[in-house]
Amino acid sequence: TLSNLLRSVIILSPEDLLCCVYLCLNQLGPAYMGLELGVGETVLMKAVAQATGRQLDKIKAEAAEKGDLGLVAESSRNNQRIMFQPANLIAGGVFNKLKDIGNMSGNSAMNKKIDIIKGLFVACRFSEARYIVRSLAGKLRIGLAEQSVLSALSQAVCLSPPGQDFPPAVIDAGKGMSAEKQKAWIEEKSLLLKQTYCEMPNYDVIIPVILKEGIDELPNHCKLTPGVPLRPMLAHPTKGVGEVMKRFDEAAFTCEYKYDGERAQIHILENGEVRIFSRNQEDNTTKYPDIISRIHTVKNESVISCVLDTEAVAWDREKKQIQPFQVLITRKRKDVAAADIKVQVCVYAFDLLYLNGESLVKQPLSCRRALLKKSFQEKEGEFVFARAIDSDNTDAIAEFLEQSVRDSCEGLMVKTLEKDATYEIAKRSHNWLKLKKDYLDGVGDTMDLCVIGAYLGKGKRAGTYGGFLLACYDEDNEEFQSVCKIGTGFKDEDLEQHYKFLKPRPYYRVDQSTEPDLWLDAVQVWEVKCADLSLSPIYKAGMGLVSTTLVCPLAVIVHKNFMSSGAAVHKSYSYQHSYSETLCRYGP
Ligand code: ATP
Repeated sequence: TLSNLLRSVIILSPEDLLCCVYLCLNQLGPAYMGLELGVGETVLMKAVAQATGRQLDKIKAEAAEKGDLGLVAESSRNNQRIMFQPANLIAGGVFNKLKDIGNMSGNSAMNKKIDIIKGLFVACRFSEARYIVRSLAGKLRIGLAEQSVLSALSQAVCLSPPGQDFPPAVIDAGKGMSAEKQKAWIEEKSLLLKQTYCEMPNYDVIIPVILKEGIDELPNHCKLTPGVPLRPMLAHPTKGVGEVMKRFDEAAFTCEYKYDGERAQIHILENGEVRIFSRNQEDNTTKYPDIISRIHTVKNESVISCVLDTEAVAWDREKKQIQPFQVLITRKRKDVAAADIKVQVCVYAFDLLYLNGESLVKQPLSCRRALLKKSFQEKEGEFVFARAIDSDNTDAIAEFLEQSVRDSCEGLMVKTLEKDATYEIAKRSHNWLKLKKDYLDGVGDTMDLCVIGAYLGKGKRAGTYGGFLLACYDEDNEEFQSVCKIGTGFKDEDLEQHYKFLKPRPYYRVDQSTEPDLWLDAVQVWEVKCADLSLSPIYKAGMGLVSTTLVCPLAVIVHKNFMSSGAAVHKSYSYQHSYSETLCRYGP
């Protein structure tokens, strides 16, 4: 359906192709440029209320009930009576307005944003209000992720190549082909587009090339460029050393420590400037002034420009050891002053993707790694190559895995060295496998936790609970202590049943955003399966029993696999019916 829409756009209004793609993706521009709408839910509700003349309270209540402000906006519109119908909205116009909203800053920005939203809103027809409000809220819910949009776009430009005068035969360029041949042809072009997008994730550059030069010309015009983040290569999970051996068969491979920090793609530009990007291509340059200042001291003179793939890991300088991920995330995210840094980081470099004008992504890892080691020097606690062994001995790998966990890593990354060892970003490749301790031993047991709070569901889960707060019971203190939030692993029937069964206690209701929407009667114990337990500064179970130092105010809940991080470090999860209702300790 999307491909057909884009074909029509290419034929009828090619200059709108760019904004249509952005609108489908709910983006204002490339992630690394960091342009965001900056419209919170409350502001959006205010705008809907003002534009429809309805009371804010009513809008809020209806949004909580329907779980979707878009639907509320759409139905509120029907009540409106206006004197003059404004001009119909057009794709380019809406997109520009959204960009205007994103570009606004300063004192009166919020009111100006509300004015623009109101303007859009009164011009809406049919279901437009629903999607505009959802776009503004950052949740479009049209069931399309970026990969589907890229597939649809390549299919559209294959079948309706831009720049033609559209005799009917050209409009369906795939016609004379057999279905199979057409599918293979479209897939080949789709891979070309996806590969280009991975190396140059910027539609502002890609779409004009497609329109002017054609899809085949993409690799000649959109190349990996220092300063523009490329999509990072990811790994495929495996269950054990045996599976690794089976998958890689005869191919040579290396096993590296899988460090538990934050991916840092470090770019050195030809003019000497250094930029750092996250796994999601956000610009993290101002977060790491410490890395920026050290990078020139660890590179050799021969390096003029490059792109490094690394993991930034919290590092205790005194004890000379890696610190947990939970410590790393207490670092400020933007505009950090070097003098204020409390959490030090060590950079673990594992790949080199670009060097002095040449992209290396098509080179095998053995070659990229050799160039990495030739181009940089290690400096203890600051810049180190990922620890690795190149062995196919099962016992040696198992021992290395255990060692990695003892050294505070998550496990191993196992990577092909020669055969099928290019840096694959567009295809879901099996060139990198991850061996995590979680998959191997897990926690070894499930936990019995009591449900004490619920969060109201949104979107698909509207009308039921969308997540829960779980706790264990501490007999010594006679109190329930929160352990984790849980939001995955439920079937629709489960959710329905929980909603019917678990009833709120009215006097527990607390209206602060970080707390559950509803406190529940503590009457049900769930068996919770999880991958790992980690010390948490926010969940209260067993707090202080193992660590007293890890109490940091800047807490973020990190969703890892099945369960968010919990602080439950002692195993007294027994549940008792008699508990003191007043002593329900909780964390955000
Ligand atoms: P999940 O949260 O889904 O379990 P993840 O976010 O850790 O996974 P994975 O695909 O499991 O992502 O692992 C890839 C990540 O591991 C990389 O994005 C990188 O940040 C990190 N990493 C740590 N050490 C290495 C290494 N030696 N080579 C590659 N990536 C590494």
